[in-house]
Amino acid sequence: MARPARTRRRAGAADLHVCRGCGLGFVTATQLLDVLADGRRLVELTCANCRLCVMGAHDDAALEALDDELERGYAQVCAACERLGRENEREEVEAFVAALHAGAILPEDF
Ligand SMILES: [Zn+2]
Repeated sequence: MARPARTRRRAGAADLHVCRGCGLGFVTATQLLDVLADGRRLVELTCANCRLCVMGAHDDAALEALDDELERGYAQVCAACERLGRENEREEVEAFVAALHAGAILPEDF
C-alpha cells in the first residue's frame, strides 16, 4: 500500500494533526493534562507514525480542527478498507469462475 502523501501546508496552530517530526498527518491528542486559566487546554499530542510526543496549550478552535482532521482521516481509512474488501471479493469470484471453467469444481463438491 502506498504511503500517505506528506502535507504541503505549513504546520501551525491550525495543523495540529501534522507531525513536527515526520511531517505526516497522523497526530492525535492522547491526553488532556490540564485546563489553563485562559481556557486553553494543555494536551499531549502523539504521532502514530513516528511516536513523537509533544505537549502544548491549544484553544478550542485548534482542538476542534484537529478533531475534524481525525474524522476526515478516519473516513479515508474506512473508504480504503471498503475498496480493499471489494477487491478481495472480486478476486475470489474470479478464482471461482476460473475453477468452474477448468472443471475443478463439480456438483458433488457442494
Ligand atoms: Zn511523526
